[in-house]
Amino acid sequence: MSEEIERDVMTCGVCIVGAGPSGMSAAIKLVQMINAHNEAIDNGSKQGTRIDEESLGVDVPVIVIEKGGMVGAHSISGAVMNPVALAELFPNYKEEAPLEYEADIDEVVQLTAAGARKLPITPPTMINHGNYIVSLGKVIQWMGEKFSELEQDVYATFCGQEILYEGSKVIGVRCGDKGVNPDGTPKSNFEAGMDLHAKVTILCEGSRGSMTKQLIKKLNLQNINPMVYATGCKEIWEVPEGRMEGRKVVHTMGFPLDNKTFGGGFVYHMKDNMVSVGMITALDASDPQMDPHKNFCKFKQHPFIKQILEGGKMLSYGAKTLPEGGWNTVPKMAGDGFMICGDAAGLVNTPKLKGIHYAMKSGILAAENAFDMLTSGDFSASSFERYIQAVTDSFIGQELIPFKNFRPLMKKGIFPMGLVKGGINYFSKGKYPWVNMKLHEDHTEIQPMAAYYPGGKPEDDIKYDNKELIYDKLTDVYNSGATHEEKQPCHLKVDTAKCKECYEKFGSPCEAFCPAQVYNIVRDEKTGAFERIQVDFSNCVHCKTCDIRDPFQAINWVCPEGGGGPMYNNL
Ligand code: SF4
Repeated sequence: MSEEIERDVMTCGVCIVGAGPSGMSAAIKLVQMINAHNEAIDNGSKQGTRIDEESLGVDVPVIVIEKGGMVGAHSISGAVMNPVALAELFPNYKEEAPLEYEADIDEVVQLTAAGARKLPITPPTMINHGNYIVSLGKVIQWMGEKFSELEQDVYATFCGQEILYEGSKVIGVRCGDKGVNPDGTPKSNFEAGMDLHAKVTILCEGSRGSMTKQLIKKLNLQNINPMVYATGCKEIWEVPEGRMEGRKVVHTMGFPLDNKTFGGGFVYHMKDNMVSVGMITALDASDPQMDPHKNFCKFKQHPFIKQILEGGKMLSYGAKTLPEGGWNTVPKMAGDGFMICGDAAGLVNTPKLKGIHYAMKSGILAAENAFDMLTSGDFSASSFERYIQAVTDSFIGQELIPFKNFRPLMKKGIFPMGLVKGGINYFSKGKYPWVNMKLHEDHTEIQPMAAYYPGGKPEDDIKYDNKELIYDKLTDVYNSGATHEEKQPCHLKVDTAKCKECYEKFGSPCEAFCPAQVYNIVRDEKTGAFERIQVDFSNCVHCKTCDIRDPFQAINWVCPEGGGGPMYNNL
């Protein structure tokens, strides 16, 4: 249908897709620069032409679209934020931004099934002095308010559905339609998605952005390694007074993950007796039944974590993927018509567990480059590619390049050799190892059931109480605030012809890896044989795990009707 209908076209100078940390930073920086430029022209302190609709010959100089129902609704992270990039945008951020605490005490704890041992020395990459514990959602909402003070609005509930090209040049994005029946026919409230034609398109879609994925494939932008990911599940808890004090940042290794599965847990102290508790599991785990949500629940049951949460109240839940492959997995970040920022470009420092300041800085650098293009009128491909050099020369490149092999070094197990090699990698400033180590797409690492569980899969021993400590997926989905218009086409495009084979070979990993119980296999009651897959798409929290980990790559996540998805609170 979308090919045949007539669409409104809005022309813009710069189109920013996604209002997360990179998108909001790009938008704010660009508008700050345009305003300062125009003011200087107006008061005669600078020669040149104003940047506005008229000089650019467009309907709007800058537009930001966001698929969530409001700015910050889909923003989630641990999070301990390095404030360096936020300080560039807002020198008064310490007084103005909604920060929780400046991190004071760092602990790294190794967990075994029943024990906990604090490492005597905190690894240098895990020292957080000068960083801030934050709710990313709150920070992004605040940035949205700052953007409003610049007399600009984010177009929330507008999802980018596909990239528009002229040959291989990106010329903008098409927004998703609204008011479409599940069978694709229009409802009475049908609204065709607008085409946004832009001189500059900045993709800030976050981890495994659905349009960024299309773009990387179409223009062959992949680096020497594909991007690899982990899934993090997180809750905010209000805990009894005195349970966690001292502006503390705790990271854990070990239980419940086996030695070959990369990941770990965290507990961060927030204001008002709240804690942020979460668990990250790498998506290259060979266990076909790997379940990030179950790992999170087991983590909370560990005595070391339980004693913090017990008697408290769970307030909200969310899940997201994070790109953790490092510099050699970052795709070509710019080309004719476009730039890619933040998580969408894989800009995450895995040994430091930091990505928000890279997202913000890359947004700022994209904005500076876009500003130069708007003022010079030079929109050539090479002008866009200046952004790649700017990122490489910034602290992002300086910090990521030496650790480009960090994630591959963990592939053969974390204790003890992964940590030893990681330490040598750190202290040699990346000189060891001297080669580029290989990574493979996460889904290719999953083993068949028969190989991973030769004696059959053991019985599941986890019991969800749904009121005291561990919550099943559906209860957690409720606490994520996720909703979707039920009468719309399913946004999880599943090639169901592959499902039976996947069930027989891998035991349908989608049932396990989805942290929101979207995928349910209907089995024959007597024989347990596969009958069909049921996809409850309205539970989806937009984490993208399925798009990444499905062993047959038979699931394609596309953006649902704008406004659907989680409504994260304080995450
Ligand atoms: Fe995440 Fe996919 Fe499940 Fe949605 S359906 S919550 S994107 S794994």
